[in-house]
Amino acid sequence: MSFIRHSARLKHIGGHLKAFNSLSHVNRSLSSASGKDSSEYDLIVIGGGSGGLACSKEAAKYGKKVAVLDFVSPSPQGSVWGLGGTCVNVGCIPKKLMHQAALLGESLKDAKHFGWNVPDNINFSWETLVTAVQNHVRSLNWGHRIQLHDKKVEYVNAKGSFLDSHTIKAVLKNGTEKTMKADNFVIAVGGRPKFPKEVPGAIEYAISSDDIFSLKKSPGKTLVIGASYVALECAGFLTGLGYDTSIMMRSIPLRGFDQQMAQLATDYMESHGTRIIKKCVPVRIDKAADGLLHVTWKDSVTGESRKEPFETVLFAIGRDPETSQMNLEKAGVQLDQQTKKIIANDKEQTSVPHIFAIGDVVQDRPELTPVAIRAGKLLADRLFGGSDVTMDYDKVATTVFTPLEFGTVGMSEEKAIERYGEDNIEVYHAFYKPLEFTVPERKVEQCYIKAVCLREGDQQVLGLHFLGPSAGEVIQGFSAAMRCGLSYHSLSSTVGIHPTCAEEVVKMHITKRSGDDPTVTGC
Ligand code: FAD
Ligand code: NDP
Repeated sequence: MSFIRHSARLKHIGGHLKAFNSLSHVNRSLSSASGKDSSEYDLIVIGGGSGGLACSKEAAKYGKKVAVLDFVSPSPQGSVWGLGGTCVNVGCIPKKLMHQAALLGESLKDAKHFGWNVPDNINFSWETLVTAVQNHVRSLNWGHRIQLHDKKVEYVNAKGSFLDSHTIKAVLKNGTEKTMKADNFVIAVGGRPKFPKEVPGAIEYAISSDDIFSLKKSPGKTLVIGASYVALECAGFLTGLGYDTSIMMRSIPLRGFDQQMAQLATDYMESHGTRIIKKCVPVRIDKAADGLLHVTWKDSVTGESRKEPFETVLFAIGRDPETSQMNLEKAGVQLDQQTKKIIANDKEQTSVPHIFAIGDVVQDRPELTPVAIRAGKLLADRLFGGSDVTMDYDKVATTVFTPLEFGTVGMSEEKAIERYGEDNIEVYHAFYKPLEFTVPERKVEQCYIKAVCLREGDQQVLGLHFLGPSAGEVIQGFSAAMRCGLSYHSLSSTVGIHPTCAEEVVKMHITKRSGDDPTVTGC
């Protein structure tokens, strides 16, 4: 979808702050102290998202002359936003806030059981939620600009592409071009949601995660296509907010995750009102005169076709790296031929020694904010601070913010069996009942924990998986323990904090192998 076609529909999400337009000039004069001429830098970072901002600020700490370029191309539906990248504007932050809004709806139902006199006809306002979320996002955009200014990083609101391996062209919003040179470059341009080109109507009528968090109009009956992080999280909060929501899943949920956990997470969603249309793929989307989107899809098992109207269709089928318009071939930077992501070594170095890449744009990296941030900081410390510490991409914890959250670190049961063999793996597990679910009589069938361990010796924990309230908060501490070589022996000799859900992790004692009932009873 071309820029021109949609430029008339541009919506501004994050907000560019006019008062700050002069700041880049201030920065420029501050940074010229390093002795380089005005268009030459020690480091130019392309991409002002999680990784790029962290890397540029860290580099400036060493007194280097640093610029960061950030430019947001509009989504096919015309959404654009401010400084900070995916996480701040169209990812983690607005997603977690909308997830929280959905959890509050659930809590309001619980509150009655705890004695609160909550009226039956409580209303929810999508417009109020979007306004509140976008106000917070704008405050973060502002905060990032202030930080760049304070740390003497020059911010250039421009799209960067290479002219040669030491020179880039920066195209500003008004079309003005400028040439910038640097000794080192960091590419941190992230990715954008994919749309299936083979599905007529998809690009014209559907939205993606780039649009949902700023959608002016309440989404109404929604079809979410995809079955990984973004799809499940968006479908989860939309259901929680009261919208009639369906997921269309072509194969399995959360590919790459422990499949027993993934299944339980989606079972919970189904039992709480999300419809899951399994083993189906969209074929076309047509817009009717009344504005409804008629989606035709095919069942890949029976071969049958179905058609149904929706008010909103959201594609969450993965993300493409933003490498196509960077002229990387002019700089000699190699891409993976299939994914078009940048190939980088364990020092984040590309095929060109002074060009580095971090974050989502790099092949075989977990697409997570803290990963991009840590990689960016460590890279700057190596480049300018004499450090030799490299990023450890192993045992990175993550949480899928589904209605019942799923926190996980380390290997899935399938992966551990594949690597070590079933006979060498011990899986400890437990179904448990969060205390806060008891009074409101919430369903607890999917509250489940498992530790995948080696069978020998102290039984090193290879993977820890937790489904339940505040899973991210629970799993974060255990991930630190895993980095210190956590064993089942040390896990089970840890004294729990009562009454919490996290204590169930240290209380697990039933092995899958035993076949005993893993349901936790009593206090
Ligand atoms: P980005 O943050 O994407 O930043 C790249 C920036 O570069 C963007 O501003 C882009 O517009 C800009 N850019 C692109 N090309 C150019 C160019 N040529 N010139 C100048 N600028 C350019 N991660 C988590 O850890 N936790 C979560 O809960 C979580 N939730 C998410 C929810 C959603 C819906 C999505 C989509 C992602 C989520 N993520 C989450 C992933 C997280 O947002 C990314 O891993 C992270 O933002 C990647 O950072 P980055 O620096 O690689 O790229
Ligand atoms: P993923 O690449 O993880 O998953 C893509 C999903 O879409 C899969 O379920 C895939 O199914 C399906 N799919 C792919 N192509 C099609 C198609 N043509 N038709 C129908 N279905 C299709 O992408 P996401 O967008 O969910 O997430 C991107 C990344 O963002 C994640 O890897 C994650 O690292 C990050 N993220 C992190 C979050 C967090 O930390 N909480 C939250 C959200 C995102 P199949 O399995 O069959 O291929």
